[in-house]
Amino acid sequence: MTTVDEATRIILERCGELPAQESELAPEQLGCVLAEDVTSDLDMPPFDKALMDGYAVRVADLALHRSLPVSATVTAGQIPPPLPPGHAIRIMTGAPIPAGADAVIRVEDTVSVAEGMIQVAGPLPEAEQWILRQGAEMRCGEKVLSAGSIITPQVAGLLAAVGRTRVRIIPRPEVAVLSTGDELVPPDARPGPAQLRNSNGTMLAFQARRANANVRFLGIVRDRRDELLQRIEDALRSDVVILSGGVSVGQLDLVPQTLRDLGVIAHVHQVAMKPGKPFFFGTRGRQLVFGLPGNPVSSYCCFELFVRPALRALAGRVRSGPSWSEGELADDFSHRSDRPTYHPAVRSGRKVRPVAWLGSPDLRALAGADALVLLPPGTHSFPAGTVVSVLDIGD
Ligand code: AMP
Ligand code: MG
Repeated sequence: MTTVDEATRIILERCGELPAQESELAPEQLGCVLAEDVTSDLDMPPFDKALMDGYAVRVADLALHRSLPVSATVTAGQIPPPLPPGHAIRIMTGAPIPAGADAVIRVEDTVSVAEGMIQVAGPLPEAEQWILRQGAEMRCGEKVLSAGSIITPQVAGLLAAVGRTRVRIIPRPEVAVLSTGDELVPPDARPGPAQLRNSNGTMLAFQARRANANVRFLGIVRDRRDELLQRIEDALRSDVVILSGGVSVGQLDLVPQTLRDLGVIAHVHQVAMKPGKPFFFGTRGRQLVFGLPGNPVSSYCCFELFVRPALRALAGRVRSGPSWSEGELADDFSHRSDRPTYHPAVRSGRKVRPVAWLGSPDLRALAGADALVLLPPGTHSFPAGTVVSVLDIGD
């Protein structure tokens, strides 16, 4: 049986970055990867700029007397007159510095001594204080972002500042989510005897959205060969297909064979992990197909461990794998399993507490968790303080 690490390697080897596209800069690009270097089309700031509300002065003028007459007022967006010798100009934050001025004194460091006359209250100003010179932040033609940058809100702001309303990005992968199972009904229906709501479809769609993918929600398909063939073929119009259920070795677990019949090449089937052992991964050309086990916690874990890294790699993220960190068990904990186990837990700082959990069908326990703790195979009584690997899943 394949280990989780081997399966991850096999999957990531087959995840090439999607072709870049030019697109309008909009909040939909949040989290996408920039596919080009970006240069500035102007100096920033575009002019010498006041950083405080106060007075623009010539430092040398203050060596003689601490009081200056105020000759004008300039606010942001205005073009100031030059500063006459021996004068101050009242200036607001963001306004251009008048020609001749070499410092700004903050309002709170002055007192008004007569109508139109100010006096420096504190220490004398130093040259350049509270002035940001033209081009100090960036120069016209200078590279300000590199290909591979992630479009965070602050990067988007910088793109807007340099006038880049269209940019080349790696697009979000499109993910089709299709749940298999004769027992399934849609979430808005009341299940009959022996039926179950399709909670995986909703959960996986949300996981895919959280992983920055576009979701094509395809509902439920019954465990019939002809229907599976038709619906999976349709799902295969997307970059990635996520199927839930039908990948194990039961009589109606028709997914692996159907995928083979559709030309999908199997690379992983069955992984040494709990929950999630029957996991399937295959490819058809550049398309990725994930067959996740039907039990909700199995589906969830397989998505986080295998699908999410794949989606990140398609989207051009260099660091794709799940980010594990160290934690320590808050209490003594006993556990027995023949496979590495991803156990729902609650984390508080470094401390983690595995939650009471009935195993792979127990979605309720998972919904109350914000972490998965990796526990090694075997029979163990872990004392409080045991160091464990923790995967955060809370937001
Ligand atoms: P399977 O992997 O198809 O053998 O399903 C394993 C278990 O997961 C069965 O108890 C199913 O009823 C349940 N299951 C399968 N698909 C879903 C789904 N979409 N939502 C919730 N539970 C499911
Ligand atoms: Mg099934």
